[in-house]
Amino acid sequence: MTAFEEELHAVEKKVSAQLSDGRFQHCLRVSDYARKLAQENGVDENQAALAGLVHDYAKERPAEDFLTAIDRFHLDPDLKNWSRAIWHGVVGAEMIQDELGIDDPAILDAVRLHTTGEGVEMPTLAKIVFMADYLETGRDFPGVKEAREITDKSLDRGVFYQLQHTLSFLAENGNVIYPKTFTSYNDWARHFA
Ligand code: GDP
Ligand code: FE
Ligand code: FE
Ligand code: FE
Repeated sequence: MTAFEEELHAVEKKVSAQLSDGRFQHCLRVSDYARKLAQENGVDENQAALAGLVHDYAKERPAEDFLTAIDRFHLDPDLKNWSRAIWHGVVGAEMIQDELGIDDPAILDAVRLHTTGEGVEMPTLAKIVFMADYLETGRDFPGVKEAREITDKSLDRGVFYQLQHTLSFLAENGNVIYPKTFTSYNDWARHFA
């Protein structure tokens, strides 16, 4: 085994210890899909695989853990007004650095941005994890095939497709929408206008 494969296996054990089996399997599939998108987009495959593996590391943590961590890591106190759907990425990135010892800033940023996306300045690795989370082989929503095809042709078009559809879905269901989700969407909408 290469040194990287050994690291990946060690991290897999730590991720699986934090998650239900279903969520852990999702992380493995995101890792595989991120590797594929990395190959297609000239990004380091191993970096993408590791980012995909850890992206939902904090997904099942109780709210109290996040609230404590927001103070401990000196994050924006406004985050406390949101919920685990938002925290597990932004706050989860700090937990991944602290608890898994992953210091690669590109991986930590990709985790931070994986739920809300980011405007057109979004780093390529973050686009890859954002899309792998949406498109991994276990995902089955109306339009997933089209979304995979669009993303294979253009990662940027894929990011915009996801933002557009997630925003519509959240609004249709009357969910509270995090402002960053809107600003990400607007930036891409202007870009493609
Ligand atoms: P997952 O962790 O693999 O389930 O995927 P994500 O991290 O991308 O999303 C987590 C959940 O947050 C999903 O149910 C999304 O629909 C939801 N979500 C995404 N953006 C927002 C938002 O702006 N506000 C709220 N309330 N939920 C959001
Ligand atoms: Fe997530
Ligand atoms: Fe996502
Ligand atoms: Fe996920």
